[in-house]
Amino acid sequence: MRIGAHVDSTDPLAEAAARAADAVQFFLSDPQGWKAPKPREDAERLRAAEVDIYVHAPYVINVATLNNRIRIPSRKLLLGHADAAATVGAKGLIVHGGHVNAGDDLAVGFDNWRKTFAYAAESGGFRVPVLIENTAGGENACARRLDALARLWDAVGEFEVGFCLDTCHAHAGGEDLLGLVDRVKAITGRIDLVHANNSKGAFGSGQDRHDNLDGGTIDPDLVVALIRAAGAPVVVETPGGATGQAADIAFLREQLGGEQRPA
Ligand SMILES: [Zn+2]
Repeated sequence: MRIGAHVDSTDPLAEAAARAADAVQFFLSDPQGWKAPKPREDAERLRAAEVDIYVHAPYVINVATLNNRIRIPSRKLLLGHADAAATVGAKGLIVHGGHVNAGDDLAVGFDNWRKTFAYAAESGGFRVPVLIENTAGGENACARRLDALARLWDAVGEFEVGFCLDTCHAHAGGEDLLGLVDRVKAITGRIDLVHANNSKGAFGSGQDRHDNLDGGTIDPDLVVALIRAAGAPVVVETPGGATGQAADIAFLREQLGGEQRPA
């Protein structure tokens, strides 16, 4: 099982080495900004690396919203990131499920997701797999609770869409981690990546505050069981820099390695 971390984008391979990580995830541009990603000088090195590469799309992206001034640039930025992610050999582009504003019809939000993939398909499709990630908060989110996720997948299921399951977001979002993989897979048919994070916020709090695996409000054994059930690569997005993340990765390797059974 490949286990890695979300790292600073300056030199992701050095960050991987510092954590003994099999995978890295990073941003290609300011996560709070709208600027398109710039070409990277290390693109060839990243493509050739043993380390698996994942790209996280900026947080500002919200392709679901009914607000044109957010939705249209969001689509464009997502497409630009898929192109840029392809140049570094990324296995996936992770993007949050997004939301509609209070009072807006969530059904339109799901249809906006469908249109995002439909428009991309017209120009040859996204150049890397797009993995929609579950989110922790908000009452109008497309991928917080599983009832919404099911409606989202009804809308986008005809396209090749991946799923990234974040344990902090699920727990804080109000979904019990116990048995969650089966409930998610019944909807999406797949889990492409697990974001293994503990949660500073309580169950159902809606707070997106990651913690190291041995901290927070989630029993770490539940995270381990979820990873084992998902059988997908893992990225920790936990605090503490290289030291904190290396400890989280080592913890997962120890827990998962000890009891791995033949599939
Ligand atoms: Zn995440």
